[in-house]
Amino acid sequence: DNDVILDIHRDDELGELARAIYTLSNELEYLKNERTEFLSSVSHELRTPLTYLKGYADILNRSNLPAKDREKFASIIQEEATHLAEMVKELFLLAKMDKNQFLIHKKTIPLCYFLQDIISKLKPAFTEKNIRLQLTCAKDVNVNIDPIRFRQVINNLLDNARKYASEYTSVKVSAYEQEDNVVIEITDQGEGIPEKDIPYIWERLYRVDKSRSRALGGRGLGLAIVKEIIERHGGTVNVKSLYGEGTTFTIKIKKWN
Ligand code: ADP
Repeated sequence: DNDVILDIHRDDELGELARAIYTLSNELEYLKNERTEFLSSVSHELRTPLTYLKGYADILNRSNLPAKDREKFASIIQEEATHLAEMVKELFLLAKMDKNQFLIHKKTIPLCYFLQDIISKLKPAFTEKNIRLQLTCAKDVNVNIDPIRFRQVINNLLDNARKYASEYTSVKVSAYEQEDNVVIEITDQGEGIPEKDIPYIWERLYRVDKSRSRALGGRGLGLAIVKEIIERHGGTVNVKSLYGEGTTFTIKIKKWN
């Protein structure tokens, strides 16, 4: 009966089976807990902007509100609604990735030209914060990537570099070939990431400093999306960071993946 089969201490095949079942049921339990935890973080994340929305909408309803306040509160509502919409969009994207309904459409792309285009579009946001954004890309190598998804990767990493770097610093993007691979590095001179947090930054909704990320418009999903997209290209993405000095993210993909 069950008691015999599930004896994990038996020294025979039944024992082995029992140990396998035991491990499997532990893993299922772990996944179930992780899912519950994730869902509870998501509902918390969604509740925060909703609370703001409701609060400010209530205030706007008051008839005697000065025009100046009205404008200010309306723009907060707009910001929170955008935050919420972006967050739902990103969660939906990640859910599609989980269900393998996320397709990659690769094309042959000249890498330097591609990076230059992204950078020129992002430059104004960096200039506004007095951060110098530079690209070093020596030889225009062709790569086989999904340009829309890859743009999202570079955008997310550069957006973080801008958010977490201080004024009057530089952010450097460099791309080069290394055997059959291309390597793209994004380096900032920002606050860096504490060593103990580094293993977790790829997790959904993980943030070193929640309130700081939120104040900067972060949603805690950017790096999770980066990692998924790069892995779908058969590549890797790594980080090196010195707390207080800066961070480098390194993407490596096969030229013809
Ligand atoms: P967020 O929307 O909060 O930026 P991400 O998934 O993009 O979410 O990043 C997760 C966390 O990793 C951030 O909250 C931040 O604490 C840390 N992080 C990411 N990039 C950098 C960087 N370039 N410099 C310092 N910290 C960073």
